[in-house]
Amino acid sequence: MRKSICLKMVNVGMALCCSFSLSAQMPILGADSLMRHYNKKMHQYIDRDSALGDHYLIDIFGISIFAGANEKKVNKPEYRLYWSELQIFKNMYNDLSRKEVMDVFSTKGSKSFSGSIVKHYSNFSPSVSNKSNAISPLKGLKIALDPGHIASDTAMGRLEDKYLLFNLRDNSQKSEPTLESEEVVSMAEGMLTWQTANALATLLRKQGAEVFLTRPQANITAFGKTYQQWKKYDYKRTLDSLCKINPTDVRLKKLRSGKIKKENIIFRYVFRDAELRKRAQVINAFNPDLTIFIHYNVDEKNKPWVTPTSQNYCMTFVPGSFQQNELSDFERRFDFLRLLLTQEIENSIIAAGITARHFQTELNVPLAKITDATYLLENCIPAGPGVFCRNLSLTRLVQGTIIYGEALYQDNFKECLRLIEKPNVASENQYPFILNARLTAVVAAYNKAVLEWAKSK
Ligand SMILES: [Zn+2]
Repeated sequence: MRKSICLKMVNVGMALCCSFSLSAQMPILGADSLMRHYNKKMHQYIDRDSALGDHYLIDIFGISIFAGANEKKVNKPEYRLYWSELQIFKNMYNDLSRKEVMDVFSTKGSKSFSGSIVKHYSNFSPSVSNKSNAISPLKGLKIALDPGHIASDTAMGRLEDKYLLFNLRDNSQKSEPTLESEEVVSMAEGMLTWQTANALATLLRKQGAEVFLTRPQANITAFGKTYQQWKKYDYKRTLDSLCKINPTDVRLKKLRSGKIKKENIIFRYVFRDAELRKRAQVINAFNPDLTIFIHYNVDEKNKPWVTPTSQNYCMTFVPGSFQQNELSDFERRFDFLRLLLTQEIENSIIAAGITARHFQTELNVPLAKITDATYLLENCIPAGPGVFCRNLSLTRLVQGTIIYGEALYQDNFKECLRLIEKPNVASENQYPFILNARLTAVVAAYNKAVLEWAKSK
């Protein structure tokens, strides 16, 4: 049965591709198993609801990507990657940046790769430089750390909506507590992530790793300046370029005309996405072996977070799980193909799985199951204990092996107290600053995970 389908596809393909090089359009030996492998992977990790069929075709010739249903109907792909080009793509991706490979695809169409690309990348082998030893087990490894969010103070925490403030004494009270009330918990996620990343960087460097931090200081953004400095010098320019990309966007128009002036709207719709893209850009430029995104979660059902929750879970995210309407532009479709063809999802699942296990054992926090949060159930694909494919900006844009860690719920009634606990000065002296016991345990969990991951490589 499959044979007759294949033959039919060969004929259709020959008729449609006759203007292109014969070697590219001929099905290669093993094309059937490649088709099966990539179709399986697509449904296992990437096309969450089988709703993206309008954008791709995996057939006997290779993989075609389409801008939409109309283009697929008339078999007019944005580009095709023939199976005979698969290894060339992989070699090129190991050598060039994501952006450079994306540029190659922007002019590829249904043609084969150019002769010079084929010649250069047919027998390309990347250099390997891991020189680890017992004293420096991470020597030769480049690790990027991204401390999530920005805030280290109340005002910034409120602006980015990553700030907790609640009164533990009277938790029947649903109104927002004030800082003057007794037994008040007040913390910004951006501060916790920055302290964690900074301590982890110290530890990883001591063990030989080359470490890059996306934010060099507390309250400093990935642009290397405060949000207020960005607003003063870069806001107008960023808004102008967003308006050019989305000329019909009503919200952007109102921001431009001054009809909307709200700070949180500016932050959310102009700054946030631009800054996430900057984080991805600087990480990719560093070309790390591993990237860790450090976050602290909250119980979504505890909104608006005026009292603590009894819930607590750890989880990790890796790329994948695209959903309907998430392939709306060329860049997203390229990353969709990139994640299908590379081992980035599989490698990230291994690293994230190790991390989730260390969160569970080091922190004694249970691993989240898919039913433990609405966003897990509605947006994610489970990929291992405590590991979920999720199409976030950073899981999609950052190349290589990644771990997006959510070690615990910061609004849990025990965790919130541990996280704000004053550090014991005498016992905590291995970092350039003082860290409390709970953050030290989180750093230890990440560190153990990195060491185990490096050993397994
Ligand atoms: Zn976060």
